[in-house]
Amino acid sequence: MKDAFKREIDYLRISVTDRCNLRCLYCMPDGIQDKKEHDEIMRDEEIVNVVQESVKIGITKIRITGGEPLLRKGIYDLIRKIKDVKGIKEITITTNAILLVGNVKKLKDAGVSRVNFSLDTLDSEKFKFISNTSLTLDYISLIEELIEHDLQPIKVNAVLLKGFNDSEIPGFIELANKYDISIRLIELMTVGHLNFDYDKYYISKDEILKRYKELKFVRKDSVSEYYNVEGNKGYIGFINPISHKFCSDCNRIRLTADGHLKPCLHNNNEILIKEIQGEPLLNKLREAIHAKPISHTLDESKDNRSDRPMNKIGG
Ligand code: SAM
Ligand code: SF4
Repeated sequence: MKDAFKREIDYLRISVTDRCNLRCLYCMPDGIQDKKEHDEIMRDEEIVNVVQESVKIGITKIRITGGEPLLRKGIYDLIRKIKDVKGIKEITITTNAILLVGNVKKLKDAGVSRVNFSLDTLDSEKFKFISNTSLTLDYISLIEELIEHDLQPIKVNAVLLKGFNDSEIPGFIELANKYDISIRLIELMTVGHLNFDYDKYYISKDEILKRYKELKFVRKDSVSEYYNVEGNKGYIGFINPISHKFCSDCNRIRLTADGHLKPCLHNNNEILIKEIQGEPLLNKLREAIHAKPISHTLDESKDNRSDRPMNKIGG
């Protein structure tokens, strides 16, 4: 279905939980605020029902996200049920991958065709710092397992943070080249109300490109611009939703774990659909697509943001 600005909306991002095993400083450093009761979270049947209705208005692609989606009990079964909905062509996942090492086959067997995993740093001590936990990710084993099970292309998401990982670009280039993967540097966003020092950590893509002149532009898709070093495999991507908005290509709506449709990531408009079924649910889905703004206004003011923190939206 097309929205009011003639954009074709065929992509639904489903946050299956707001819980997480990490406490990333830019996302949920203090854990979950406003914890939801179990019965406030969408049940498997409700999620599948939303997918079944959304197919009727043209949704064909699903991304599972969180919080940390792999923490949800029965997640592999839920993914399989979503994949089995007639009309769903693709199901992908965004995960911090802590629980994915050793479980890639299960994910593939459930029907997932591609994985984006988050990794802000290649240094395990820095990983502990930014994730605010004592956990680390064995990303080499994970990448090799994803390749073994042919869950490709592999995309790694790293939030770009000045003074934290901007010096790690050479390491990212080497890793991308070694495994022929894309490492996408995400512009830091203000989402929710965090005590995270945005101005201290924000760094633009232009600054990185000025510093690493060996990175040459290769191509662009609807959200990322890809660069690489001549002769190398793999890419360094940039996702710049604020400084280089891609709203004109936006093709998505979001479903939160507590059953709200979010027409746009960056404002407070939400449509509650929990407990709603059939034609009324279909109408709510249409309403959400119609309510998509022409673009977000986060570039005009950091205060024009969603009050809901990122772990409750899913990115
Ligand atoms: N837990 C999973 C993960 O980390 O991949 C999925 C949910 S997480 C909210 C989805 C994406 O949002 C991650 O790639 C994360 O780095 C990104 N993210 C979270 N907070 C952000 C922020 N303030 N600015 C930019 N990206 C952010
Ligand atoms: Fe958890 Fe992902 Fe948020 Fe990090 S970015 S705290 S992994 S939901």
